[in-house]
Amino acid sequence: MYVFQSKLIEWYQKNQRTLPWRGDKNPYHIWLSEVILQQTRVEQGMDYYCRFTERWTDVFSLAAANEQDVLKMWQGLGYYSRARNLLKCAIQIVEQYNGVFPDEIEKLKKLSGIGDYTAAAIASIAYDKPHAVVDGNVYRVLSRLFEVDTPINSTQGKKQFTALAQEILCESNPGIFNQAMMELGALQCVPNKPNCSLCPVQEFCLAFKNKTVSNFPVKTRNVKIRERYFNYIIFILEQNDERYLYIHKREANDIWKNLYDFFLIETDEAVDTETLLHQDEFVNLLKNNPFTLLNASAVYSHKLSHQTLRAQFFVVRITKKLAFAHVNKLSLIKISELDNFPLPRLLDKYLNENYNVYH
Ligand code: SF4
Repeated sequence: MYVFQSKLIEWYQKNQRTLPWRGDKNPYHIWLSEVILQQTRVEQGMDYYCRFTERWTDVFSLAAANEQDVLKMWQGLGYYSRARNLLKCAIQIVEQYNGVFPDEIEKLKKLSGIGDYTAAAIASIAYDKPHAVVDGNVYRVLSRLFEVDTPINSTQGKKQFTALAQEILCESNPGIFNQAMMELGALQCVPNKPNCSLCPVQEFCLAFKNKTVSNFPVKTRNVKIRERYFNYIIFILEQNDERYLYIHKREANDIWKNLYDFFLIETDEAVDTETLLHQDEFVNLLKNNPFTLLNASAVYSHKLSHQTLRAQFFVVRITKKLAFAHVNKLSLIKISELDNFPLPRLLDKYLNENYNVYH
């Protein structure tokens, strides 16, 4: 195993990408980069990482931030619970550990948003603790190296691959070794057409030896995708030469918690405009307020990990304030203020593409 480890580390030291968090043992930076990079491509995450670290230079400044600013900075990355947990975790580090990230994996895992993966990354990279980090890249590399056909997205697979990663970990240099494994998966042992001819650990790879590389990794397809129909109504009010609209803060335990959207009528299936405007929610909110439908958008499809959203936006002009806005948690803001609020990527996309419709 020693030869495997040294070949891999040597390759990493020569071939690793230059990334802003590389070579950095500051746990705040490692934590931020790992949280941002979950479910996010490196090229996209890098920009967010730089903006976060410029604005909040340490865990104390992040802990003092307000959630709306953090969500706004996160806008576009998706999986917004990561951003909310980021802030919660920063506060916990400051309050419970005087701003110093603990070096024990069990303590790290008790912090908000820190699971096995992030805890192992912080402990090994920042503190040289011997914990294997297992991300999607590592699962793939291990499955090929050892021809493991247990599905990588199963509970059993998770246990098996974690144990395997722990077994081959270089205990004298765990941080570098972990990063080397992940980098091998990102650069060399990629999902399609891995570059085996230049692989530093080819001689150890069973899948290469047996010409079975394309059979690995194995995945189960058991994720059920839920379809949801979002009908957004954007109420525009013109008063004293100023244009306003109503926004809504999403506070329920659902997607996009604490982000802002518009008045939403969710239906079980696609509905036409006529049916929508006769829905009780719409009628009860408007009461006798006269309105004009200015625009109905095309349907936007938006994929999340377990849901597909079909969203349509209706711009409705009203001439009086909505009497029951507060009951529906709607707030009236100037259209020019909309940029200050964190919005889901889907809404951001619609607004960018339909600027003329609501301005
Ligand atoms: Fe991956 Fe090919 Fe290297 Fe095996 S030889 S670890 S399949 S890149």
